[in-house]
Amino acid sequence: MLRTLFLAAAGSTRLGRLVESAPVSRGLVQRFVAGSSADEVLLVSRRLADDGLAVSLDHLSEDTRTIEQAVAARDEYVSVLGRLKGAGLTPAVEVSVKLSALGQRIDEKLAYEHARAICAAAAEAGTTVTLDAEDHNSTDATLETLTELRRDFPSTGAALQAYLRRTEGDCRELATAGSRVRLCKGAYAEPESVAFQSALDVDKSFVRCLNILMAGEGYPMVATHDTRLIAIAEDRARWFDRSTTEYEFQMQYGVRPEEQARLAGSGHTVRIHLPYGEEWYGHLMRRLAERPANVGFMARAVASRK
Ligand SMILES: Cc1cc2nc3c(=O)[nH]c(=O)nc-3n(C[C@H](O)[C@H](O)[C@H](O)COP(=O)(O)OP(=O)(O)OC[C@H]3O[C@@H](n4cnc5c(N)ncnc54)[C@H](O)[C@@H]3O)c2cc1C
Repeated sequence: MLRTLFLAAAGSTRLGRLVESAPVSRGLVQRFVAGSSADEVLLVSRRLADDGLAVSLDHLSEDTRTIEQAVAARDEYVSVLGRLKGAGLTPAVEVSVKLSALGQRIDEKLAYEHARAICAAAAEAGTTVTLDAEDHNSTDATLETLTELRRDFPSTGAALQAYLRRTEGDCRELATAGSRVRLCKGAYAEPESVAFQSALDVDKSFVRCLNILMAGEGYPMVATHDTRLIAIAEDRARWFDRSTTEYEFQMQYGVRPEEQARLAGSGHTVRIHLPYGEEWYGHLMRRLAERPANVGFMARAVASRK
């Protein structure tokens, strides 16, 4: 029911305009999205960097169905990377990329070529690229693309989702020297055959994955707002004798800013996932539709600034 509602809302341009212009919802959107243009995202990035935070930019795009859309997504990333370099915001600011936005569902090779162009622009700008994790049907293709990209751009990172049953194995594969791995719980509605369903099972999987990544030789990027998991990550880092430069925390823009500041203040790298782009409205609604728990997640974030 909620899912249908949010998906219908995602497709409504009129509703989008209304949400954008209404004062209450505008505040909500501004809290979670940096703006619709590169100019706006550069300003917010500067503010976050001045506050001692690292950033990963995420250019929002609608479901990419045509080659033109995929090319436009690639060009936006290449352009913003040039501007970040010009503004002196690299390496503090990197980019997060969804291969689906680059055309993965049209042609995997095309998405790979686009990702390569973005990695080359990031290398030129002195920063890094992380591939987002999407629904489980794309995991194999994304990890294959990662392997290819890392041949020439070894700093390319990838996200792994603790809710997937396969992820412990993927963590083992990726816990190698120089390998940047973002561990998150996972945001899509996935079937029981491939994903743990209860919050407890997902949390337990998260901790098992964390143990593998912290024990390994790579660079774990712990992407959660869950204070228990953050505390466990700090504990494991101590146990495995990792300094604060050998792993990082990541959180969404606008969520738990006080916790972000606390971690940064204790010497950790805290990277803020910063979405921007014209397509913010569909993005916000789809996040709500994909996982009803995300509604509560947003509501908590609005109710609490802690
Ligand atoms: C940087 C980053 C990158 C991500 N990348 C991906 C990706 O590539 N692919 C993907 O599928 N998903 C991604 N996600 C989303 C992720 O998978 C989760 O859906 C999302 O982060 C919610 O999970 P959580 O770990 O924060 O914990 P939750 O289970 O949502 O929350 C855990 C607990 O934290 C506390 N809490 C959480 N938020 C708040 C708040 N705002 N105020 C107060 N208390 C709060 C509450 O006690 C809550 O019970 C990413 C998330 C982050 C932060």
